Amino acid sequence: MSIPDSDVIIAGAGPAGAIVAYQLAKQGISTIILEKETFPRYKVCGGGLTHKILSELPFPVEEIIESSIYTVRFSHNFQHTFSRISSDPIIYCTMRDRMDAFLLKKATEAGAKILFDEQVTGIQQNKSIVEVITKKNHYYAQLVIGAEGAARTVARSMDLCKNISMGLAWEAEILADPEDIVKYSQTAFLDWGTFPGGYGWVFPKKDHFSIGVGGPASLSTRMMAYYNQFTRSTGIRFLETKSIKSWPIPVRIRESQFHNGRVLIIGDAAGLTDPMTGEGIYYAVKSAKIAAETCSDYLRGKVSSLESYSEHINTELMTELLEANRIKYIFNAAPLRIHELVRENDRVWGGFVKILRGERNYLDVRKGFGKWKSFWNPLATILKYSGEWKEIHFKGKRMK
Ligand SMILES: Cc1cc2nc3c(=O)[nH]c(=O)nc-3n(C[C@H](O)[C@H](O)[C@H](O)COP(=O)(O)OP(=O)(O)OC[C@H]3O[C@@H](n4cnc5c(N)ncnc54)[C@H](O)[C@@H]3O)c2cc1C
Repeated sequence: MSIPDSDVIIAGAGPAGAIVAYQLAKQGISTIILEKETFPRYKVCGGGLTHKILSELPFPVEEIIESSIYTVRFSHNFQHTFSRISSDPIIYCTMRDRMDAFLLKKATEAGAKILFDEQVTGIQQNKSIVEVITKKNHYYAQLVIGAEGAARTVARSMDLCKNISMGLAWEAEILADPEDIVKYSQTAFLDWGTFPGGYGWVFPKKDHFSIGVGGPASLSTRMMAYYNQFTRSTGIRFLETKSIKSWPIPVRIRESQFHNGRVLIIGDAAGLTDPMTGEGIYYAVKSAKIAAETCSDYLRGKVSSLESYSEHINTELMTELLEANRIKYIFNAAPLRIHELVRENDRVWGGFVKILRGERNYLDVRKGFGKWKSFWNPLATILKYSGEWKEIHFKGKRMK
């Protein structure tokens, strides 16, 4: 029989992997992270941390924050532009190379071991142990956590990839006129209603802007045209593009199983991203914390299987993410109307801010519809088909 190299092996050292490693190591559970790259490494990401994440992270992260967003400059199809200001910060901007290296350092300081340049290629398990196969080695653990992001290698080898719809986003890091960097240092740009099921954003960083567009992967061939048009529409005097890359965003669209035997999946590897916004760091951290609790209970003999992990993810995260999906269908049916409501109605703007700050969640949106809330699910189902029709129609349209 093989001897375990550690209690838990984690594939991937993004936010999900680093936080679950931190939580486990803090409890004295032996933990190894296998990471394909060497840190610090660039990660295609807007680096926008919604305020609600601060209370979920187990330690302060001020030192990796480059800017705080108080103002959102909205446009609908590059027009009808307006800005709304919040008295409290809504989003904090970071660069993922710095952030991920910082989170990983916290995990290793807590006692987790990191092995870089170790790409997991497959998993095999029996009743008592899991074998993790990398390009160079074999490792053994009692439990394995797949935190390898959209690549989903562990999830695939454990047949845990059902009910996932693929999004795609492009992200560029662009130098700009220093005057514009100062002028927009607390402003995020958001264009919606142009690209069905997607949007464009600009986040200010310390010395440049991160600009991106995203939407359903089925419209990937139209995204570059949208990116070019959106970039021009902002009016920011961009100087030099340092990098531009695309990356998939997996979105879980139904309640599912998130474990198989001694293996469980978290973060993007589990498709735990917000279908409205593509936000994933918050859900990576949330699922990492639930995973750490389940693994700890299992290793201490409090539970006899990882079943409770799937149950918790479905009740604590999926209910909210599925509600976000319904809101997306409703938004996609009438984006201009909602754009106008955000401009004119302080309650709607306040609700938008409260959701990003974590003072409300998507489930509260339905409650706000009072006696009409029972029409919510059928309405969302009908509008889902209208959204799909819009996507098909958009594919055939020309963009300038
Ligand atoms: C363009 C774009 C913009 C985005 N902007 C935002 C945003 O502003 N805010 C937000 O909250 N979310 C955003 N997201 C989503 C966010 O990036 C992800 O949800 C988040 O990174 C998920 O974290 P994770 O730890 O699950 O996975 P990842 O961050 O992807 O980390 C996975 C890690 O696993 C490693 N790995 C991969 N395969 C293997 C393997 N086989 N073996 C070992 N290691 C492996 C990778 O190198 C990586 O370090 C964006 C996504 C995209 C594509």
